[in-house]
Amino acid sequence: MAAESAKTVTTVEPDLDFIKALKKSGGDTLKKCMQCANCSVACPLAPDSKPFPRKEMIWAGWGLKDKLAANPDVWLCHQCNDCSLYCPRGAKPGDVLAAIRNMAIRENAFPKFLGNIVAEKKYLPLLFIVPAVLFFLILSVTGHLNIPAGEVVFSKLLPVMYVDTVFVPTAFLMAFFAFKGVMNFWKSLVDADAKQGTKRYLTPPLPHFVKMYILPVVSDILTHVRFKKCGSNRDRYTAHLGIFYGFVGLFIVTNVVMVGHYIFHIDTPFSMVGPVKLLANFSAIILFIGTTLVIRNRMADADDPGASGSSYSDWSLLWVIYAVTITGILSQVLRLSGIAVLAYPMYFAHLLCVFCLFIYLPYSKLAHLLYRTTAMVYAKYTGRD
Ligand code: SF4
Ligand code: SF4
Repeated sequence: MAAESAKTVTTVEPDLDFIKALKKSGGDTLKKCMQCANCSVACPLAPDSKPFPRKEMIWAGWGLKDKLAANPDVWLCHQCNDCSLYCPRGAKPGDVLAAIRNMAIRENAFPKFLGNIVAEKKYLPLLFIVPAVLFFLILSVTGHLNIPAGEVVFSKLLPVMYVDTVFVPTAFLMAFFAFKGVMNFWKSLVDADAKQGTKRYLTPPLPHFVKMYILPVVSDILTHVRFKKCGSNRDRYTAHLGIFYGFVGLFIVTNVVMVGHYIFHIDTPFSMVGPVKLLANFSAIILFIGTTLVIRNRMADADDPGASGSSYSDWSLLWVIYAVTITGILSQVLRLSGIAVLAYPMYFAHLLCVFCLFIYLPYSKLAHLLYRTTAMVYAKYTGRD
């Protein structure tokens, strides 16, 4: 396809496989677009200059995969679907942008094969079977493949040291993979600007960079201020806030438990009325409520123009978070009830779900937290917002 002007000829090479993949993963309405720009006017988050999502709809329709993968704007969208509500053609640009984000995670993933495996539904059983076999091997090698006698104490099944021997190195490895993916993304943003001849931005010294660009973005995320601007889908704000702070609380609890174990030699279980347990249970409850609200929202009538469509990556993450929360709550209830024969297997299932949630973080929808933060920092750095 060639667009000709008086002076230049721009050749556009559409990636037809990309268009097909985008349509399959939630962007099925992209060809309905007639480029009227209602969506860009309706979007409460789009900047005044070069607003989204109309231009992304055009690029997606043309199959411009590289341009979309290196576009920070698709990450500034919070899928509120105000744009979809005002589209006269029944297209859902909010969902198209969500499908583009999933594609961008896959493009930037390191190592790439893990990104491809996590993105494909057919590999889902494998993603759980491999860690489950690993956990069974650890139990059998350490002689713990049985239901321990006496009071239910989970460290009898898997001593903290064994759990941490698997979890801590894996967490560091995944943090490195996530860092590589995010750096790939940042480089693609910089290269895309350079290719377009956009002016070069001066990078201030790190402390200034943190103060000027990173801290304001962290503040935006902590307050979910951008979610608050959603018009048609206001409950996304509450739901995401619950999920976000549920994770923050559980992250704090995990670290307190590790410090308690290794530095102060205090072992679990903690008192049910102590601050650590109270924070753990409160976090689990708000995580459960937040996830339930998101699931309810996504189960809304597919014909509702303001409702979010849902892809495999949406559902797989939501059900894993649900599994983590429910197995965690049930493990505690069964432990307190003294039903060892159910409590230990439930705890095993809980550990497995937590492990899967975190090892696949750089490639699942949870990676949005990393990529969106990066895009928001880049947007601030380049004066985009
Ligand atoms: S409102 Fe609909 S038809 Fe108009 S540009 Fe946006 S997606 Fe396309
Ligand atoms: S889904 Fe919401 S934030 Fe995203 S482009 Fe549409 S209106 Fe804007």
